[in-house]
Amino acid sequence: MPLPVPTVLLHDIYELTPDGLRGMGVRFLMMDLDNTLAPYHVHEAGGELRRWVDGMRRGGIELFILSNNHGGRPEEFARQLGLDYVNRAKKPRPDTALKVMRSRGYSPSETAIIGDQIYTDVLCAVRCGVRSICVRPICISRNPLLAVRYFFELPFRGGKKNGKRQDR
Ligand SMILES: [Mg+2]
Repeated sequence: MPLPVPTVLLHDIYELTPDGLRGMGVRFLMMDLDNTLAPYHVHEAGGELRRWVDGMRRGGIELFILSNNHGGRPEEFARQLGLDYVNRAKKPRPDTALKVMRSRGYSPSETAIIGDQIYTDVLCAVRCGVRSICVRPICISRNPLLAVRYFFELPFRGGKKNGKRQDR
C-alpha cells in the first residue's frame, strides 16, 4: 500500500496561492470541508474564506468541495461560496474523486486534493495519483477523538506536536 505522505504541508489553506498551485502545474483543487475550510461547528463561510476562494478563482484555479460529510454542510458551503460539491465522497477510496476529476476534464498531474486528515484526504490523493496538500485541522480541541487521531498522524505530518512546523 502506498504511504500517505503529503506532497505539501501547510499550516492552513491561506498559505496556498494560485501562483503556488500553478507552479506545481495544478489547475483543479478538490477541497475537504470539515476542519479544512471551516471547523465543524461553523455554518457560515466567513469573509477570509470567501476572499480566498475568489482569489483562487481569479487566479484560474477551479475549486471543488469533496467531503465525506453525510449532512447538509457541504451543500451549504458550496452554495455560499458558489462552488460545486459532493458529499459522502468516501475518501480515502479514490472512486468519487477520480470520477469528479475526469468529469471536469483534468488529468492527475493538473489536480490536487487538500485536506486535514492523513488517512482520509492524503491517502485518497495518493491513491488517485494526484498531489496532496495537508493542512493542520482548524479545530481539534472540541473532539478528543480527533486529537488522538492527529497525534497518530504526526509521523506523516513531519512536524511536532506543538510549536512551529519544521517546514515553515
Ligand atoms: Mg476534514
